[in-house]
Amino acid sequence: MSLRIVVCVKYVPDATGDRHFADDLTLDREDVDGLLSELDEYAVEQALQIADEADDAEITVVTVGPEDAKDALRKALSMGADKAVHVEDDGLHGTDVIGTSLVLAKAVEKTGYDLVICGMASTDAAMGVLPAVLAERLGVPQVTLLSEVKVEGGTVTGRRDGDSASEQLQASLPAVVSVTDQSGEARYPSFKGIMAAKKKPVQSLDLEDLEIDADEVGLAGAWTAVDSAAQRPARTAGTIVKDEGEGGKQLAEFLAGQKFI
Ligand SMILES: Cc1cc2nc3c(=O)[nH]c(=O)nc-3n(C[C@H](O)[C@H](O)[C@H](O)COP(=O)(O)OP(=O)(O)OC[C@H]3O[C@@H](n4cnc5c(N)ncnc54)[C@H](O)[C@@H]3O)c2cc1C
Repeated sequence: MSLRIVVCVKYVPDATGDRHFADDLTLDREDVDGLLSELDEYAVEQALQIADEADDAEITVVTVGPEDAKDALRKALSMGADKAVHVEDDGLHGTDVIGTSLVLAKAVEKTGYDLVICGMASTDAAMGVLPAVLAERLGVPQVTLLSEVKVEGGTVTGRRDGDSASEQLQASLPAVVSVTDQSGEARYPSFKGIMAAKKKPVQSLDLEDLEIDADEVGLAGAWTAVDSAAQRPARTAGTIVKDEGEGGKQLAEFLAGQKFI
């Protein structure tokens, strides 16, 4: 039977762009270009490697995000994933991790899965908790922050590297894993891959398709609220120490004054 792998990929604002808050204190996503979260490229890469090793496997990439989030799906498809699911709905504006995990859980269940692979964190919100919350919602084991991952029979195994020790972990399928940026360089899409991606199926789903009530997601359903936000103050001019014989002393005094030494 085919191994059904679902990879959760997030469309994130380009960190090199100028990002702003909108009036409701959510991130203004209209105003900035986005891309597939770089950390999710590792998740796609691991899915492709696991699929290569399996007799028969199918990779579905899933994203929850606005219209432009299709770009993230296309990138993952051009890397080699087979098909995509895009959850898009106006009611999702301002959804937090609790809501996002609900939407992803319903989308993953509807798609059908043996293994869900996530990145270690998104490069914008960067909470790194979604895979654990998703596993809880799906009621399956979670093996997170893996720098090596393999599937054999009905089991997923992996290595989690800590500061002082490495752990070897395993779980029975179905399961959710997240992989780190140490799991292996993500491949670049080939020209052939980019052309093939244009013809791969992208299924669009909304909240109604997933039988999710509007009050469970969006700003109203969020368990967290942003009360205020302020622009980071502009950088002030630095202090220039001119060495006229006393430079070293002045430098040491400056560092001591700032409590650096
Ligand atoms: C439609 C929409 C509107 C949003 N609006 C706001 C907003 O106004 N303000 C704001 O601050 N945040 C907003 N968010 C971001 C939202 O809060 C986060 O996506 C969510 O809380 C997940 O947290 P994280 O990104 O820290 O995930 P992490 O736990 O850091 O992510 C770990 C992994 O989970 C997966 N993942 C995470 N998010 C998604 C996703 N959306 N689709 C697919 N896979 C995913 C990826 O594999 C990722 O590597 C919005 C999200 C969506 C989908």
